[in-house]
Parts: sequence; structure tokens; C-alpha cells
Amino acid sequence: MKKIVVLTGAGISAESGLKTFRDSDGLWEGYDIEEVATPEAWSRNPALVQEFYNMRRKSVLEAEPNAAHYALAELEKNYDVTVITQNIDDLHERGGSTRVLHLHGIITRSQSSINPNLTYPINGWELKMGEKCELGSQLRAHVVWFGEPVPMIEEAARVCRQADIFILVGSSLAVYPAAGLVHYVPYEVPKYIIDPKIPYISSSDFIRIEAKATGGVPPLVTELLND
Ligand code: NAD
Repeated sequence: MKKIVVLTGAGISAESGLKTFRDSDGLWEGYDIEEVATPEAWSRNPALVQEFYNMRRKSVLEAEPNAAHYALAELEKNYDVTVITQNIDDLHERGGSTRVLHLHGIITRSQSSINPNLTYPINGWELKMGEKCELGSQLRAHVVWFGEPVPMIEEAARVCRQADIFILVGSSLAVYPAAGLVHYVPYEVPKYIIDPKIPYISSSDFIRIEAKATGGVPPLVTELLND
């Protein structure tokens, strides 16, 4: 079976009602990321950071996968598919994709604030101050903050190196190291990019599909399934 690697960003979940950064002028739901998505923010004001991710978790639980998430799951009928997502929502899984690598974590789980390898499922939307891991430290959202290492990046690079077909959906390619993954995909591999505003990309060999995810992904999936 041919291997398809799909790299997704916030854009694929935009039509499920989850806002991207770019659409909000570099702010995330009205917050400067420095205030809510860095280790410094957590040291300064953990309650604010907790509250911010509780609100994000609430929105994620209320959102539904859209036609693009569902279409990518359909690809598994004929291909060995790995979705690498920068998103912290679980819409790929709920859309039916079975192999999803979350580069930046997943908001439906919590994480020990002293050992990132200790993660737990969260029941519902709220993670409270005072809820602790087995080592006795406060639980935080299982997400990678700006300035933290991205433990899954090497695995993601390995997957990209093995791609036979590569699809990029809804990412501004502004956040590193995720944006650098496109450079691990071998030169001769067919590469597609789907975005209503195609971001700057140094490789010229991408087939550019200027469309929203729900308009661009399903037809491409149909074409690939008919190949
Ligand atoms: P980004 O916000 O920087 O860029 C979004 C991209 O999506 C842009 O290129 C934009 O043109 C495109 N886009 C907008 N609407 C679209 C649509 N309907 N269909 C397809 N594309 C569309 O997002 P990024 O590159 O993923 O980087 C931002 C970081 O923000 C990521 O690390 C991610 O963890 C985090 N984030 C995640 C979520 C989520 O989990 N849903 C939401 C916001 C931000």
C-alpha cells in the first residue's frame, strides 16, 4: 500500500468553528500567545492559563469534524495514511482517522507539570486548579507551549521521509519546527497544498489548491481513491 502523509494545521478545523491564529491577527481567541501559551505564562499566572485551555477544550468538545476530516479518513480504504497534525483538537480521530500524530499535544488530556510523559484523560471540559498528577504536581493541559521541546518531531520527520504522497492542509507554515517537516518529504513525491491563502513555501514542486479545506480536500481524496 502506498503511504500518504497529511500535515494539517488550524485551517482544517476552521470550518468546524475553531478559530485559527491567522484569522485573529496573530491572537488566539483574543489572547496574546505570550500570555497563555508559554511556560512563563504558566509560572506567572497558572489559573489564567488553565482557564484559557478550559475554554478551548469546551469549544473543541462542542465542535464536530467537517467534510475534510471525514474525507481524510476515507483515504485509509486504499492507502496507508498518517495524519500529522499541529492541532490540539481531536477532530481527526472523531472523523475516523486511525493514525494521528499530535505534534503539539491534545487538549482532551492533561499532563503533569513536572513530568510531561505523565498524561491522563480529562473527563469533560474542566481541568481544575488543585487537580494533581501521581507525583503530586498540578495538572495542566497536554499541549506543547511555545518555547517547549516538540517530542514528536523526530517521529514526524521519519514519517515524512517515507511518504509516497504528501498533502498539506490549512497551515500558515509559520510555527517551527512543524513548518520544517515539508523539507523531509523526498523531492520526487507528489505534494499538494490546500489553503484559501496559500502560504509562502520555498519548494516549488507543490500542486497548489487554493480552497477551503471542505472544498479542496474531498475532491482530492476522490481523485486519489480513483487512481
Ligand atoms: P495558523 O493559524 O498559523 O494558520 C492557519 C492557516 O489555515 C492559514 O494558512 C489560513 O489561510 C488557513 N485557513 C484558514 N481557513 C481555512 C479553511 N477553511 N480551510 C483551509 N485552510 C484555512 O495555523 P497553524 O499553521 O496550524 O499554526 C498555528 C498553531 O496554532 C498550531 O501550532 C496549532 O497548535 C495552534 N492552533 C490550533 C488550533 C486547533 O487545534 N484547532 C486552533 C488554533 C491554533
